[in-house]
Amino acid sequence: MIFNNIDFDTYFKNYPSEDGFFGKYGGAYVSPELKIAMEDITEAYFTICKSRKFIDELRRIRKEFQGRPTPISHLERLSNSLGNVQLYVKREDLNHSGAHKLNHCMGEALLAKYMGKKKVIAETGAGQHGVALATAAAYFGLECDIYMGAVDIKKQAPNVARMKILGANVIEVTHGLATLKEAVDAAFDAYCNDYKDSIYCIGSVLGPHPFPLMVRDFQSVIGIEAREQFIGMTGELPDAVVACVGGGSNAMGLFSGFLNDPVDIYGIEPLGRGEKLGDHAASLKFGTEGIMHGFNSIMLKDENGEPAPVYSVASGLDYPSSGPEHAFLHELGRVKYDVVNDDETIDAFFKLSRLEGIIPAIESSHAVAYGMKLAKEMGRGSILINLSGRGDKDMDYIIEKYGIR
Ligand SMILES: *Cc1c(COP(=O)(O)O)cnc(C)c1O
Repeated sequence: MIFNNIDFDTYFKNYPSEDGFFGKYGGAYVSPELKIAMEDITEAYFTICKSRKFIDELRRIRKEFQGRPTPISHLERLSNSLGNVQLYVKREDLNHSGAHKLNHCMGEALLAKYMGKKKVIAETGAGQHGVALATAAAYFGLECDIYMGAVDIKKQAPNVARMKILGANVIEVTHGLATLKEAVDAAFDAYCNDYKDSIYCIGSVLGPHPFPLMVRDFQSVIGIEAREQFIGMTGELPDAVVACVGGGSNAMGLFSGFLNDPVDIYGIEPLGRGEKLGDHAASLKFGTEGIMHGFNSIMLKDENGEPAPVYSVASGLDYPSSGPEHAFLHELGRVKYDVVNDDETIDAFFKLSRLEGIIPAIESSHAVAYGMKLAKEMGRGSILINLSGRGDKDMDYIIEKYGIR
């Protein structure tokens, strides 16, 4: 399919370019020392991802350890409550450890093992990436250092406990707003000091090349499975697919299966409390071009041009930028990016729980909320929503903040 002069038939061959660019977005803006580390990882990845042994081992792990393929569920009661559009969810909440993040963590940790590294280092926001990486590290017998903002440590106590039980060191980050952005900085610094024996495992399609490419590749299993399953269930493609966008990994995973199809694609960012800077984390909607954390993308900036403070009810979405590939797809218009606010999200959280018996992560509830709105607008057809994770980690927070509705 040709869209806006881009041939999506050969898209994955051409994007990113050899030096990691999606159009003008992406790249590797890092110190000369880190540049060498990134080139090392790139070279190892390009060799390993073509090796039969690596592919077979990853396939086996996905099936026997992660429990893939995850199913697609038809949301019959929710669909009926909204009208004639049929809603479906891809059940990444049923992936081992409760979210899509294990898809790239197992890939990254397997790469670390092939490269002879002893330790994996990462940051985490909602705690999901930390739990997923700690899970992968335990599986492969690697050391694991997880950097986490003090605010998030408080909000996500069960995930902190999980990481510790899995044998990871959870390192508290107290500077700035003490959330995800600061944790990314701290993890980066730690990696700079120890890149010979360790590997940095980013939690999304972010960071310097080759991470946006690698994480997309590992997550593309979602879209590949979903396309085949959806056609198997309904005999056709969905009219629209929807995913929430924090850094954008679950979204890129789903979207990559449908970019070359006549399917409308929606990436949903958190509008939080409203449109004022600091009240949301909708970087693609309100941001401008800029470089942070080693890559060029669209970001939310404060008056000094630094990454702005952001907010979302979902810790996993409160990051002031999005992956460079999303900035590119946004510019092309191939993916439409829109927002839902906290209230719409919480409403969707309770609706999905009550009508379908599925308690979603608050992050994923953003996608569900948008799917519900879109269903009313479309009037007929079908929508496939990525249910990126389960809501168990959010129970205490929901009950404390919203009570049981
Ligand atoms: C981390 C997380 C997200 C956001 O990350 P992306 O890279 O944008 O996918 C979404 N949903 C869940 C359940 C998460 O844990």
